Amino acid sequence: MTTLEQQIENFDYSSLFTTEYKERIAKEVEVENKEKEQKKYAEQMNKYSMEIKDYTTLKVCKRCQGTGEIKSYRHIANGVCFACGGYGKV
Ligand SMILES: [Zn+2]
Repeated sequence: MTTLEQQIENFDYSSLFTTEYKERIAKEVEVENKEKEQKKYAEQMNKYSMEIKDYTTLKVCKRCQGTGEIKSYRHIANGVCFACGGYGKV
């Protein structure tokens, strides 16, 4: 003989949800995690390719001669070279 309290405590609340519902939720969580992973992966790849670009294909910016700034444009955005974004290489 179980008390009402025990029955409440032992009640399997997940039985309230249908198998389809549980599967749908599980799938949603899975998709969400996958999307997060893909986004993270894409960000890493993007960063990685930027690094590769830095070391192999970038050329000295002709606009600023690699300094990243144009002195005559100091009054605009501190003279940051718009051609290379202040990096000095493109
Ligand atoms: Zn530049």
